Amino acid sequence: MKLLINAKIFPFIHSKSILIKNNIIKFIGDLDDINISSKLLDIIDCNNNSVLPGFIDSHMHLFESISNLESIDLSEKQFTNLEDIRMYFKNFADQKSDKILKFHGFEHRNINQNINIKFFDNLNIYRPIIIKHRTGHLIFTNNKTLSFFGFDKNEIEKYSNEYPINSKEIHKKIYKSTTHHNFDKNIRLYNSRLLKYGYTTLVEAGAMNDVGKFKTIQKYINNKIIDQNICYMPGSEEIKNFSEIKNNRNLYLGPTKFLLEEKYDFNKVKYILRKYLESYNNDAAFHAIDSETIHKIIFNLYEENKDILKNRIIRIEHATEFIPEFYKNYNKENLHLIFNPNFIYDHGDFYLNNQDDFDIKNIFNMYESYKYGFNFGIGTDSPFGNNNPFLLIFSAITRSTKNGENLPGKGQINLKEIIKAFTINNAKSIKKEREIGSIKIGKNADLIILNKNLSKLKNHNEILEVKVIHTIINGESKYRLN
Ligand SMILES: [Zn+2]
Repeated sequence: MKLLINAKIFPFIHSKSILIKNNIIKFIGDLDDINISSKLLDIIDCNNNSVLPGFIDSHMHLFESISNLESIDLSEKQFTNLEDIRMYFKNFADQKSDKILKFHGFEHRNINQNINIKFFDNLNIYRPIIIKHRTGHLIFTNNKTLSFFGFDKNEIEKYSNEYPINSKEIHKKIYKSTTHHNFDKNIRLYNSRLLKYGYTTLVEAGAMNDVGKFKTIQKYINNKIIDQNICYMPGSEEIKNFSEIKNNRNLYLGPTKFLLEEKYDFNKVKYILRKYLESYNNDAAFHAIDSETIHKIIFNLYEENKDILKNRIIRIEHATEFIPEFYKNYNKENLHLIFNPNFIYDHGDFYLNNQDDFDIKNIFNMYESYKYGFNFGIGTDSPFGNNNPFLLIFSAITRSTKNGENLPGKGQINLKEIIKAFTINNAKSIKKEREIGSIKIGKNADLIILNKNLSKLKNHNEILEVKVIHTIINGESKYRLN
């Protein structure tokens, strides 16, 4: 049994004691009221610092985060013309090997020139090469790599005409090429980073999530290589294969994940939604960044197809350009917005430089989402955004970008609401609010101890100095800062 003493359960100001038995919180209150021999107890002094429920990352991509650990990060590189790219990739020309050269975080939208497959063919790169756009969806590569992956002439022709490539087939090949010997080492590395950041539950949000990946994750959880509990969203085209899967505390199925392409019109979206929602009663999560896609989904579900909506949870993933004021009549109990405010820091300068394309006041507008009573949670979309939770909280409150600029907003969300979004609201969006997301008697013992009392922070910059000093998952200490 564990006893946490002098714990300030944020946002309450009085210190309490928390008793944990097995994986459950058994008691919260005054130390004097606990009649257990101290010999039986592992006593942890929180020193009157804040104790929070463990963070829930409500939208992330586990295997992509791990495979990015062995891929070159281009997110700090500014390519403004083709010559910049040519210069950079000179470093990789003339190497001879079958090992794939991998890059991620690439941004091509600051280049005003046409970028095609021939350009990459002419870089004199002889190794297979994969360059992922920072959003993870678009792929830049050359002809040689496409034949290396086994695509035939017609497919290569097709991809050359629709460049950069945005196809499920190429993502499947890339995914297959990542499961090799470095993976086990990197998964341990990534797990320790998540513990250090205080994550106790992850929501795996891949649109192509299949049974095979579920079983691989299950193996890593059973072998105690992954410590977090995982909510796995099955991909919408794979859901039919999940009927035999059993849930447990460490790994369970969440809402079904849909990726509706931006080019689909209102009626196509309607057709897909009706077809799916009539056959399954699962909750549903929709990838929706731009305001048009958000509109197609919300109007379809809450105006035209109310009959099949029932009381299932509807999650809007990213909700980047969601306009709370416009949708205020749809703040229904079952609608959940899953924001990525870490993108304000990571990509805010890009939004500021492209104000014709973005409604920047409404990007991740958590202040008005709160004001109009929407349910909203938080996901990092790791690896496409950084997963430092304190940097995320900082940018959610201040709307600060990496270059120290500020994204304009319509008001300022407060620390308490951000932490709720990161914990209990996320739990609600996967229907786990009775088990996780807050520190209450009878709930799962997933909690973190910080090095500061959050109620006493003097300014927002102090958020960046907050550290997790102890992470407890399912009642077990998994990480301690020495
Ligand atoms: Zn995502």
